[in-house]
Amino acid sequence: MSALPQLSERHRAMLAEMGVSTWWMLGPNPTAPAPETLPPPVAVAPKAVASPTQPAAQPAARDERAKQPPRVAEAPLVGTAPPRPVVAWASTDLEALGQAVVQCTACDLAQHRRQAVVGMGDTQPDWLLVGEAPGEEEDLQGLPFVGRAGQLLDKMLQAMGLERGRGVYIANVIKCRPPHNRNPDPAEVAQCAPYLLRQIELLQPKIVLAMGRFAAQTVLGQGGCLPPDTLSQMPLGKLRGHVHQARLGQLTLPVVVTYHPAYLLRSPAEKAKAWADLCLAMDARDGLG
Ligand code: URA
Repeated sequence: MSALPQLSERHRAMLAEMGVSTWWMLGPNPTAPAPETLPPPVAVAPKAVASPTQPAAQPAARDERAKQPPRVAEAPLVGTAPPRPVVAWASTDLEALGQAVVQCTACDLAQHRRQAVVGMGDTQPDWLLVGEAPGEEEDLQGLPFVGRAGQLLDKMLQAMGLERGRGVYIANVIKCRPPHNRNPDPAEVAQCAPYLLRQIELLQPKIVLAMGRFAAQTVLGQGGCLPPDTLSQMPLGKLRGHVHQARLGQLTLPVVVTYHPAYLLRSPAEKAKAWADLCLAMDARDGLG
């Protein structure tokens, strides 16, 4: 990781709220993953202070790229069933894509949902945060990360100087709640991933934060970062600590992997590592100019 952040009192207070201690002031991170199992990390520029008021990407450039005809990603999905690409890729704007998602009956999850959860936030975001799938509260409200994990996610964003809806868009790999919050199966991931990929093409974020195993495997697998077989064997910890470059549709985007907020609620001792991931992501974002 490059320069460690200088913390203001406000940031310290927020990190305390997240339950993160400022471990880097005590010495090197003893928990950083061994790098030799991964491709070399992408160099990032020294960190400037992250600001929610930074200008978003130039809308003209975004519009231009979004007008390009959608392309089906060539990298195989992490999963066994081939996606049905029709609906997602035919959507020319976010609203049409949202309609396609809420009307989707492509897999059995549609039968159990109250509402599909498309995503929420700034539609010209710098940051795209990707989670796994809606839980009970999200299924009720039709919005991502509105339960307990969402409250922690909001604190993480605050600690980064960001907030939901301002330069940030939040989406999930799976748009419908799996019954009893079970893990999505590979066929469901394969089926639903084209929606996320089309969202990425339309939103044109500058950086993707993949939270948890399903988001990491889907985004990195689709982005051609690692072969699906390798990815499916790799623990999340091995995917952290690097700025991956993913080819997603027509974009090549930096992707940083971190723990899922729900996991952090169960394993608060891991929050320090998650904060290190967020620092890495902020460095990468700032290095993009
Ligand atoms: N967990 C997720 O992965 N996504 C949500 O929207 C809520 C909880």
